[in-house]
Amino acid sequence: KEVILSVKELKKHFDVGGGQIVKAVDGVSFDIYRGETLGLVGESGCGKSTIGRTLIRLYNPTSGSVTFKGVNVNDLKGPELKKFNREMQMIFQDPYASLNPRMNVLDIIAEGIDIHGLATGEERRKRVVELLETVGLNADHAERFPHEFSGGQRQRIGIARALAVEPDFIIADEPISALDVSIQAQVVNLMRRLQKEKGLTYLFIAHDLSMVKYISDRVGVMYLGSMVELAESDALYDEPLHPYTEALLSAVPIPDPEVAKTRERIILEGDVPSPINPPSGCRFRTRCPKAMDICATAVPEWKEAKPNHFVACHLYNE
Ligand code: SF4
Ligand code: MG
Repeated sequence: KEVILSVKELKKHFDVGGGQIVKAVDGVSFDIYRGETLGLVGESGCGKSTIGRTLIRLYNPTSGSVTFKGVNVNDLKGPELKKFNREMQMIFQDPYASLNPRMNVLDIIAEGIDIHGLATGEERRKRVVELLETVGLNADHAERFPHEFSGGQRQRIGIARALAVEPDFIIADEPISALDVSIQAQVVNLMRRLQKEKGLTYLFIAHDLSMVKYISDRVGVMYLGSMVELAESDALYDEPLHPYTEALLSAVPIPDPEVAKTRERIILEGDVPSPINPPSGCRFRTRCPKAMDICATAVPEWKEAKPNHFVACHLYNE
C-alpha cells in the first residue's frame, strides 16, 4: 500500500485573545493510503474539520507536518502549488453555502476549469455536461441556478465542481450531514462509484458513525483535539478498544437484535471540556467510565495494540 498523505504530530492552535489559546488539533499523526477512504469521526469541536482545512492549506499548521505525495504541503510554491490545488479538492457540509447563488451551474462547475486553463468555449461546456452526467444530472441543468435544486442535487453539483479539475484526493467535510436520511445513501453511493471509476482517495469527515462505516476502509476517532483510536472499519466497529469509541458506538442502532442484546448503551456523563484548558493526562478522563489514577497524570501513548489497530489509552499498557 502506498501512502499518499501523511500527517505527523500536527497541531493547530488558535489565539482567541486574552491570552487564551484554543488547541483545536493537538498532536495528531496518521497516514492515508492511495485509493482508500479514511473516515474521521467525533463530536463537533473535536478538531476534525480543522484537520481537513489544514490538509488543504486553508490553515497553516501551528507545528507538525502534512506531507502529500512525499512533499510537505507548506513548502509548495509556483507550479507545484498550482498542481496541488488541482489534486486536492474539498466538498462541504452545506452545498448551498458553498455555491455562489448568482452563478449558474455551468459557471460554478467550470470555475476550476477556468482557473487552471483546462478548456474554453465548446470544450468547456462539453466537459461540464459530462461532469453533470457523471453525478446523475444532465445538460438541462447547466443554465440553472443553485436555488432551483434540492439539497441532494446541490451536493451533486458540489461534487461535480470538485471533479472538474481531475483531483485524486478529496476531503469531504460532513458532506451528507445536512441531507435527508433518504438522500444520504444516494450521495454516499455516488461517492463510492466515483472513487472506483477515478481511483480517488477520500478523507470522509462525519459524526454519523453508521454512514462512516459503510463508506470507510479505516476509521479514526477524535476527541478534543486528539485522535484516540484508528483501525480498519470492521475492527473498529466490532471490537472497539477505546472507551470513547465504545460509547459512540453504543449509540448507533444495530439492526441485528441478537447483536444488539450484547451491546449496552453507554451514556457519557458531563460535557466535552474546553479545548482552551483540556484535562491533564488523558483528555477523556473526566467522562471516562474506566478512568484510573494514572489517567490524570500521564498522557496515554499512541500505540498499535493489535495489528493495524491504534489506540491511545492506559488500559492497553502491558
Ligand atoms: Fe479512560 Fe484512562 Fe483510557 Fe483515558 S486513558 S480512555 S481515562 S481508561
Ligand atoms: Mg465540522
